Amino acid sequence: MVRTQKQLFGTNGIRGVANERITAEFCINIGSAIATHFEKGTIIVGCDGRTSNQMLKSAMISGITASGLDVIDIGLCPTPTLQYVIPYYGARGGVMITASHNPPQYNGIKVMADDGIEIPSDEEYNIETIYFDGKQYFAEWDKIGRVQTESKACDIYKEGIKKHIDAEITRKAKLKVVVDPANGVGGLVTPYVLRELGCSVITINGHIDGTFPGRLPEPTPKTLEMLSKMVKCVSADFGVAHDGDADRAVFIDEKGVIQPGDRTFGLVANRILSANPGSKVVTPVSSSSLIEDIVRKYDSEIVWTKVGSITVSRTILKENAILGGEENGGIFLTEHQPVRDGAMTAALIAEIVAQSNKSLSALLGELPQYYNEKLKTSCPNEKKAQVIQRILEKTKDSDQITIDGTKIFTEDGWVLIRPSGTEPLFRSFAEAKTQERATELAKWGISLVKDAQN
Ligand code: MG
Repeated sequence: MVRTQKQLFGTNGIRGVANERITAEFCINIGSAIATHFEKGTIIVGCDGRTSNQMLKSAMISGITASGLDVIDIGLCPTPTLQYVIPYYGARGGVMITASHNPPQYNGIKVMADDGIEIPSDEEYNIETIYFDGKQYFAEWDKIGRVQTESKACDIYKEGIKKHIDAEITRKAKLKVVVDPANGVGGLVTPYVLRELGCSVITINGHIDGTFPGRLPEPTPKTLEMLSKMVKCVSADFGVAHDGDADRAVFIDEKGVIQPGDRTFGLVANRILSANPGSKVVTPVSSSSLIEDIVRKYDSEIVWTKVGSITVSRTILKENAILGGEENGGIFLTEHQPVRDGAMTAALIAEIVAQSNKSLSALLGELPQYYNEKLKTSCPNEKKAQVIQRILEKTKDSDQITIDGTKIFTEDGWVLIRPSGTEPLFRSFAEAKTQERATELAKWGISLVKDAQN
């Protein structure tokens, strides 16, 4: 059968239910395909805290070593820890066993290149081709790869984070912070980094448990209720929550209010650009105009990308950008590493609050205020291209960015109309200076999609 598109890798690696789609046998075979693709060198392997992780990690290591490549097994760690130590060890690549924010029964595989960023799409396609054609290379008995266990990866990563923070400032402020890693691997790093920076840290859902007994691993207003209450209860300066593999960080201010990711991204952009005006910042088209406002203030340039963290990372390198960010709580500090990093973001926010002598809510209150509305409408997959084409024709005189669906700017806001990559629907995401106008714009986006289907 001739394949025309990828069947295993999605927007963030391979995902599926453990022991259904993601089995030990699958991990051995895809592990050998990954090693065959990399050809030589050492592969770093790590995993998050899910119940299937030891099983799948062992199978992955078997597959990689069977193909003759050596493995450094760093065990339980956040995804950004694995990404950080790949260039540190001079490894050929890395494999993380994780399903990030997905529910407990899921697991997955992320494959990283030698720079720590997930491999580009054409390399994923090559691994799939090796897998489906059964073209894995198997080494002779005396060339089978070796496995080295390394327990210092989280320590190396923590030291890497602290290099970018002024600990004298954070120590003086004596902040109180509540950390909620969702019983995931973020608990191995973030509470310790913050404590070493002089914060008083209270951790909830801190022990690693793959059943996620405290809350589901996706940080949402519903799953963060306990953290919000705890922040108020102990009069903390702020709270920080991670997803299951701690590449994202979502913040709760001292009043218990959950803050959207692009507002904390705005704070970080303000801090980085004030010290480095005339720089570039990379962000997907779904981000708030707030980011653009801050970037302009510091004579800097914004580079828009498609939605997706890998695209942001690769664009950061291509454009030599200083910072990247996503509205879901992903912050990419290039001088640390050009990938989203939850613990690094927590340390940055601690430093910003400490330096300002203001509360997190006051700092966020100083940023320009915008309102959002997200709506969706069904559309068969086969009609998606036609819909976008017709919308572009109809709105051709408008100011717009067309790199991912279309983001149409009006005098008082914008609407982003994007086809879903996985479901038969379109999303209409709008932003304006009032909630009423944002809702109006999002509804207009939906009407454009509906009209274009007829
Ligand atoms: Mg994640």
